[in-house]
Amino acid sequence: MTNLYQDSDVDSAIELARRLLLRSQELQTPEEKRQQAELDRMIQHPDDKATLVQWTDQAFRTQTPSRVADQLMHILDVQGIPRFFSPLDQTLLRGFQSFGGYLPGVSVPMVKSKMRRETANVILPAEDDVLSEYLEKRQRDGIRMNVNFLGESLLGETEAKHRLEKYIHALASPQIECISVKISTLYSQISSLARRHTVGVLADRMELLYRTAAQNQFRYANGSNSTKFVYLDMEEYRDMRLTADVLKQSLDRDGLGNVRAGIALQAYLPDSYEILEELADWAKRRTATGGTPLTIRVVKGANLEMERVDASINGWPQAPFDKKIDTDANYKRMLHRLLQFDLAESICVGVASHNLFDIALAMLWTRKAQAFDRVQFEMLEGMANHQRRAVFEMTKSMLLYAPACKREDFLNAIGYLIRRLDENTGPSNFLRHTFQLSLESPVWHHLVADFRDACEHREIISAKPRRFQNRMLACESPTEASHWERYCNEPDTDWTLPVNVEWIEGKVSGWIDRCGENAPDIPLVISGREIIADHRHCGVSFDPSRPDIVACRFAMAGKAEVDLAVQCGKQDPSSWRSTPFAERHRLLRQAGNHMRNRRGDLIAAAIADGGKTVKEADPEVSEAIDFTEFYPLTVKRFLDSGCEESQDVEIAPRGLVVVVSPWNFPIAIPCGGVAAALAAGNTVILKPSSDTVLPAYLICQCFWDAGIPREALQFVPCESTEVASHLVSHHDVETVILTGGTATARSILRTKPGVDLIAETGGKNATIVTALSDREQAIKNVVASAFGHAGQKCSATSLLLLEQEVFEDKKFQDMLADAVRSLSVGSAWDLSSRIGPLIRPPRNDLARGINELEGDEFWLVRPQPVGDNPHLYSPGVKWNVLPGSFSHRTELFGPVLSVISFRKLDEAIEIVNSTGYGLTSGLESLDDREQLHWRDSIAAGNLYINRGTTGAVVLRQPFGGVGQSSYGPGLKAGGPNYVVPLMRFTERNRDLSTTVSRKSKSKPVDESLVRMLD
Ligand SMILES: Cc1cc2nc3c(=O)[nH]c(=O)nc-3n(C[C@H](O)[C@H](O)[C@H](O)COP(=O)(O)OP(=O)(O)OC[C@H]3O[C@@H](n4cnc5c(N)ncnc54)[C@H](O)[C@@H]3O)c2cc1C
Repeated sequence: MTNLYQDSDVDSAIELARRLLLRSQELQTPEEKRQQAELDRMIQHPDDKATLVQWTDQAFRTQTPSRVADQLMHILDVQGIPRFFSPLDQTLLRGFQSFGGYLPGVSVPMVKSKMRRETANVILPAEDDVLSEYLEKRQRDGIRMNVNFLGESLLGETEAKHRLEKYIHALASPQIECISVKISTLYSQISSLARRHTVGVLADRMELLYRTAAQNQFRYANGSNSTKFVYLDMEEYRDMRLTADVLKQSLDRDGLGNVRAGIALQAYLPDSYEILEELADWAKRRTATGGTPLTIRVVKGANLEMERVDASINGWPQAPFDKKIDTDANYKRMLHRLLQFDLAESICVGVASHNLFDIALAMLWTRKAQAFDRVQFEMLEGMANHQRRAVFEMTKSMLLYAPACKREDFLNAIGYLIRRLDENTGPSNFLRHTFQLSLESPVWHHLVADFRDACEHREIISAKPRRFQNRMLACESPTEASHWERYCNEPDTDWTLPVNVEWIEGKVSGWIDRCGENAPDIPLVISGREIIADHRHCGVSFDPSRPDIVACRFAMAGKAEVDLAVQCGKQDPSSWRSTPFAERHRLLRQAGNHMRNRRGDLIAAAIADGGKTVKEADPEVSEAIDFTEFYPLTVKRFLDSGCEESQDVEIAPRGLVVVVSPWNFPIAIPCGGVAAALAAGNTVILKPSSDTVLPAYLICQCFWDAGIPREALQFVPCESTEVASHLVSHHDVETVILTGGTATARSILRTKPGVDLIAETGGKNATIVTALSDREQAIKNVVASAFGHAGQKCSATSLLLLEQEVFEDKKFQDMLADAVRSLSVGSAWDLSSRIGPLIRPPRNDLARGINELEGDEFWLVRPQPVGDNPHLYSPGVKWNVLPGSFSHRTELFGPVLSVISFRKLDEAIEIVNSTGYGLTSGLESLDDREQLHWRDSIAAGNLYINRGTTGAVVLRQPFGGVGQSSYGPGLKAGGPNYVVPLMRFTERNRDLSTTVSRKSKSKPVDESLVRMLD
């Protein structure tokens, strides 16, 4: 590599940056100074930034002026008048605060148009004639324009088609030379997991754009012509490789060798360097066969906050560097590489930055590399325009990135505005300091020092990805948490990383043939012995994705085997109950580690036997590991408790616990019950659902292989409901953990009223969407919660309550219908299926819910059978459902969402509470007053605001309901107290356990135990 870098470059670049700064200050207009001053005042008062974000984000969500005015006034009342506004604007706002509510029809449009005016220089109007006029003016000044049509990421495929048409229309417009697009605006069903499928669809769509670009000429001010240019912006880390692959795959197609195309790479991602090299090699091959060079725009990266949140929620390391100096160093390293002579013929470079030091360094290196013909400087419209003018004066090269948005789509600009605001105010960002930046100020010296440091770091900065999870490798148990509160959840699989996709593809293709003749035969495990099925006692379960194919055969217990198992569980021949806690804990951690290392097999078993998709099964394995690791920590807390009361309390297991698990969470739920009961020292009999014996058996193998005796954990699928009932009502069974239907819980209590039943039962869960919600976000959350695992989750949203304004909003209806219709329904073995099969063809309530309408109900989207597999149904949305109707009150457990309208939030809360269930509940509203009121009035165990209602997480978000959704003590699964009813607490010859576990008797919980729980 030729070294363009010399130590003296740093000083030269600083000198050049100094000159750029001085010149830009001379060029700054009074209006630009006013805006900068406003921004500077905002930086001095960070609370004011929050006010502005709340204003832009919340108030204009509704179309009702009085509601807008009310929300604006509420924000002003709570936050105060922002101090960054000019004195005149502050006075106007005070007037609005006092009188805005009286004449909302006048005041709100005034506020709206003021906001549009204030942002007009950052976001261009996208209406054809106005935009064309603007672009022509810029081009007359010699500035090239790159137009980006702002829009939220897509929800559905109809919208995707519209966006594609919009881009094609733009490329045909004579005034537009270049457009920037993001892959998330081209396809609504992007999936890192279904990589091949996703890249294929996106490449087809990009091909259309590239062909249009190649067919349309742009005429420059100097009279020369060229074809149009399409840039691919970079968004999230998960899109990085996909975007690069889409670019290569589409441009490799016939006849596209001479298309002018570019891609952005983000320096805050260390992995970008590797992608740069891959693209450079590809571009060399392309130009070697006569193709056009590829343009690479180097940016630092605009989504730091979002990447931070994403990493923290998923328990993954943050993909971008966490220090600005590293990003800055990598930026320089990438620029240096791109300016090398070996890329002179194949790569053009976009230097995109507002940092005058980096621009100056790029100018120096460009001159050294004699590369001015292949380097362009790129800046953002409306951001420090005076600096842009100074850069243009010196380089005569400028591509100005101009976001555009139509008047009616102004809300779509919010995300962009907030990103820019972050950049302008971020603590270490260059633009934050530009207002009063003088060459003598300490800030200038500070920036100079940072620049020097970053230049020094340039050669040592690591290009090693910060996200490196590799499922192909064996895992070790992580260090044990010192306390249950410090437990770190097991991370789900990071599908962004191609190695993990390759891993699951291998697992899936290895398992797809382990069915039919090759299907496993699963024994009963009773009294430490395996009992193989004889002809009479053999159960068979089928693969819901291929209902003719056997997923497994399994032995089934009759009453005699049940008696044997109960006797063994009671007698505890392996002395599990008296095994010291430390040993139990060690074995359980070992079991958790087996699950870690068998993740792929567990997922595949859930696909084969339960019809779960990979995306749905993977988090289940994480949850199973969490249960196994977390519950012992919560038991330990009681044994270790140093409080005075613990000296007087004796803690012992309850004895034998029967776990009855369902088919819809075939990994996590059986594992959770077993792990909790074993951790508390009990012997356990697991009776899995006969639909999903295979994953439950694999889970048990993890426990047994860890060294937990087969006498302590027995595996007993039952041959009939009668035998299962014999098990749970057995006179030697005291405690039953059930996850299943409300009717099953009632039936157990009827058969054996004295049993200690810990039951998580059904739900008729609702999400309320008010007029003050982010409607697109609401649709995204509701669709995921309603149709994940085909709606077969007890936590699924099955009722959608819309405030009248939203209910009547045609755009909302269209977006919801589009999002639902776009979900692909298919075999769970197919990684691109978003919705897999039902466990069985619809019958009873679900059949009625899918096939029948009442009163004035109609289908916004009609559920339909898909192909010839009767387990496959496309999702449906039933509109205009009335309170009290069948669909309102009945748990359907399938892919049907029933929509009810309401006028006032209280009315909606009443409708939700009247179902009698109370498992999960959601609210979509950005108004904190609505959020508080809803939180205090809704009756449900798990409440979710502005997010989906499914996906509980151990410790962070334990799971459990109220009302008909829970029987027994009501302690949440995955919470710190779940193990309490599985232990016996005795104080001075007095047994406390009944007071804790039998809520029905409603005795007060003993004081000393309460203090221990605290
Ligand atoms: C023409 C143009 C096109 C763009 N296109 C894209 C695009 O396609 N995709 C995209 O993501 N962005 C894009 N951006 C935005 C860009 O990524 C930067 O966010 C923005 O330009 C600010 O960087 P800077 O070099 O101008 O300023 P600087 O102030 O020097 O750098 C600010 C940047 O440093 C990084 N940073 C700040 N703090 C930290 C920290 N603690 N740890 C690690 N890094 C940190 C962040 O990336 C931040 O944006 C574009 C910018 C321009 C000018």
